[in-house]
Amino acid sequence: MSESNKPYILIVEDEAPLVTLLRYNLEKQGFRVEDAGDGGEALTRITEAAPDLLLLDWMLPTMSGIEVCRQLRRRPATRTLPIIMLTARAEDQDAVRGLDTGADDYITKPFSTEALIARIRALLRRSGSVPQKLKLSFHDISLDPASHRVIRNGRALHLGPTEFRLLEFFLRHPKRVFSREDVLNAVWGRDIHVEPRTVDVHIRRLRKAINGPGEMDVVRTVRAAGYALDYDESASTAA
Ligand code: CA
Repeated sequence: MSESNKPYILIVEDEAPLVTLLRYNLEKQGFRVEDAGDGGEALTRITEAAPDLLLLDWMLPTMSGIEVCRQLRRRPATRTLPIIMLTARAEDQDAVRGLDTGADDYITKPFSTEALIARIRALLRRSGSVPQKLKLSFHDISLDPASHRVIRNGRALHLGPTEFRLLEFFLRHPKRVFSREDVLNAVWGRDIHVEPRTVDVHIRRLRKAINGPGEMDVVRTVRAAGYALDYDESASTAA
C-alpha cells in the first residue's frame, strides 16, 4: 500500500514514550503517523501538509494545546480539521473548555489504545474527510479500499474490478436496499448507459466470488426492489 493512500495522523505530544506507543499502534492500524513535540512545530507541519486528523496534547511546552487549537480554528484551511485533545484526569474541566475552543473530541489519560483508535475512526467517519480510505467490514467480510484486499473468514477473495466496486458500495451502506438504477448510478456512473440487467450479472459474479461452501449469502435479493448487503439473522443462528 502506498504511504499517500493512508489516512495521515499528526501527533502533537512532548512525552516521547507515549508518542512511540501511539505511533506503533496507529501504524499497525494502517495510518501514516508524524509527530511534533510542541505547538510551533505542529503549526508549521500542518501548514506544509494538512493531516487527516490531529491528536493534540493539552500540556505542551511554550504553547498549550488549547492555543494551538484556537489558532487552527481561526485559519480557513484548518477550520474543520478533525482534532482529538489528549488531557490528564485532573484537567477534566479544562477538557470541556477544549471542546469550547473547537476540539471535536477529547480522551483522558491514561487511555487504552483501543479506545483511542475507536474515537479516531468515529471522528474520521463523522468528519467525512477520509472514510473512503478506511477499512470496511460486514459480518465476516472485510474490504480495505487502500490495499484493494478483500478477506472473508480469514481467506483472501479475488474479485474483478466491477465486483470489487459493487462490494465496496454495499459495504458503505449495509442493510439498505438499492434498486438496479441506484446501483448503476453509484458503481458505473450516471453518464454511462448500461442495461439494468447488467447489475444482475455482476451481482451473480459477486455472490460466486464471496460465498464459499457453507457460508451465508450476504447479498439479499429484494423482490421488485433490488439488492441489499444483508443476511437473515435466524439463518445465521441456525447455521
Ligand atoms: Ca504533554
